Amino acid sequence: MKDRLERVLERIQKAADHCNRSVDLIHLIAVSKTMPAEVVKEAIAAGVTDLAENYIQEAREKVNTLATFNVNWHYIGHLQSNKAKYAVRLFDLIHSVDSLKLAKELNKYAQKNDKIQSILVQVNVAKEESKSGVYAENTIELLKNIGQLDNVSVKGLMTMPPYFNAPERVRPFFAALRKLRDQIKAEGIPNIAMEELSMGMTGDFEAAIEEGATMVRIGTAIFGERF
Ligand SMILES: *Cc1c(COP(=O)(O)O)cnc(C)c1O
Repeated sequence: MKDRLERVLERIQKAADHCNRSVDLIHLIAVSKTMPAEVVKEAIAAGVTDLAENYIQEAREKVNTLATFNVNWHYIGHLQSNKAKYAVRLFDLIHSVDSLKLAKELNKYAQKNDKIQSILVQVNVAKEESKSGVYAENTIELLKNIGQLDNVSVKGLMTMPPYFNAPERVRPFFAALRKLRDQIKAEGIPNIAMEELSMGMTGDFEAAIEEGATMVRIGTAIFGERF
């Protein structure tokens, strides 16, 4: 685990150097979905500070088991509005908000929990039918509406591009997300921050870093193959 993690951190450093970005602005989110709590503990011992999960039920058990560890939990899976209640209790940052309905549910439970829920808006840059996410051209309108909710705080954008494990084919989608981020920033929407870009996984994170990622979501390269 420690070796794999070190290799990933070296690759992040190298990618940052390659495009003259400070590595301090690139956060490693270790994707622990399907990994048992014991394995996640090893990752924490090796220095991981941020963990991401895709399934609420699985995350509930793990987050509770590991409650004594001072780590940040991220939700990166598709989130149904009827699970918003659990998501607010469990996660520091929810990367996958793609509708006003979901944002309103999160806002409601955040209010009840006396919390400001940090979120990212997931963009379906390639308009794939099989994927969640708001289309790029609808993102600004969605953000204007979410900006009016008191208990959610938008930090930036997330995407899951097509072409698994083919970094050069994926790069244009990363670049498109960055351009959209810059365009939104220029709009100056009230209560909307646009500092974070969550993009890049095991197969393509170097390209994502070169295109401006501030959070890379890496599972396999840290934990090994999932079963
Ligand atoms: C599983 C998953 C990842 C991590 O994928 P790896 O290829 O194992 O690094 C990243 N983001 C999302 C949304 C995922 O579902």
